[in-house]
Amino acid sequence: VDTRYNPHPRRLVVPLCQPPALGTVAVAGRLGALAELRAELGRCLGRASERVVLTSSGRAALCLGLRALRLRDGGARDEVVVPGFGCPQLVEAVIDAGLAPVLCDAGPDCSSPDLAAFTASCTPRTLAIVAAPVLGATIDHAGLERWASLHGVAVVDDAAQAFCGTLDASFGARGALGVLSFGRHKPICAGAGAALVINDPELSDAVARMAVELEQTWRERGAPPAAPRPWFSDVGTALEHPPAAPVRLHMTEEEARVVLARLAVANTEVVAANRLANQLAGRLCPHGSVRPRPHDAGLPRLFFAMEVDPSRRHALATRLADAGVETSWLYYPLHRTRRYAPHARTPLVHADSLWPRILLLPCRGWLSANERDVLLGALDTLEVAS
Ligand SMILES: *Cc1c(COP(=O)(O)O)cnc(C)c1O
Repeated sequence: VDTRYNPHPRRLVVPLCQPPALGTVAVAGRLGALAELRAELGRCLGRASERVVLTSSGRAALCLGLRALRLRDGGARDEVVVPGFGCPQLVEAVIDAGLAPVLCDAGPDCSSPDLAAFTASCTPRTLAIVAAPVLGATIDHAGLERWASLHGVAVVDDAAQAFCGTLDASFGARGALGVLSFGRHKPICAGAGAALVINDPELSDAVARMAVELEQTWRERGAPPAAPRPWFSDVGTALEHPPAAPVRLHMTEEEARVVLARLAVANTEVVAANRLANQLAGRLCPHGSVRPRPHDAGLPRLFFAMEVDPSRRHALATRLADAGVETSWLYYPLHRTRRYAPHARTPLVHADSLWPRILLLPCRGWLSANERDVLLGALDTLEVAS
């Protein structure tokens, strides 16, 4: 399979993810932006603000949540099931927590795992399943929770790619714990910040205890020496070099201000992204060699996913780059890398089959009229080419 990175546009006109800066919103409460954000997220999720812990990243939030689950469990079980076709930060969070990640497959022709994929990765050592919808495919949460409660396994509702403060109020509010992220490429794209949502109130004390412990451990460890990241031309090699571990647990006041500003425009951006996705889909012939991938209407758009012939993916990405359009192929199946291969218990056949067929286009609500025109025009050249 072709594991080259997509060529980057020489003249970048439509980036995948470059939100315009927003003026910071005036923080009304005298408690500051962190308190206001906690209250606002609590309102969105139907949770008291004390049940929302603001963190520096989704990775930090998940690590904290898993440590709390482990504490409550008494240390007997140490495995955590995570999507093998998804964000490597999830796997890193499990490792950060001192637990054993188990990579599970995606569903058949689906970017997110289904119930069969999750349960095939479980053993008596399974402490938790991280239910993370990936690239616009929802997870059957009710079905998963039924199975998990029968087997005494905790479910973490990782809504990093789902929560946008609008659409569905339940994202992040299901399972024992919820994870939100406001990092790059997330629906609320503030560049940093995240939250752990305590859905099972019995975990409150364990989360509080672990928060103190993690903050101290990470502070003592300190920042790793700054090393320039080498330039990679192959996606597999890049994943052998994971991003540095978190250096602090909590969100800063400044990060909270940016998240609040982005939350305020989230609804407008979701609507605009959906409109753009419809226009892009309208340019692709449903029976052509380049087709729109299905996208669940309940999930916000982070990209526009197209299905392509794997042997032509690089050529198509090159053509788009020539038009100034940045593309991506998320997600490289993590079990194909040396770093993550030891964590896969079964072959991940659906992930293997899906990723070479996916090509992602920019599709965010903040794109300007000119950027949208360039994008739509670039799609027309693909149809001619195919
Ligand atoms: C990005 C992502 C994370 C990690 O969030 P960060 O804030 O980048 O650490 C976790 N889960 C999923 C599903 C993600 O997409």
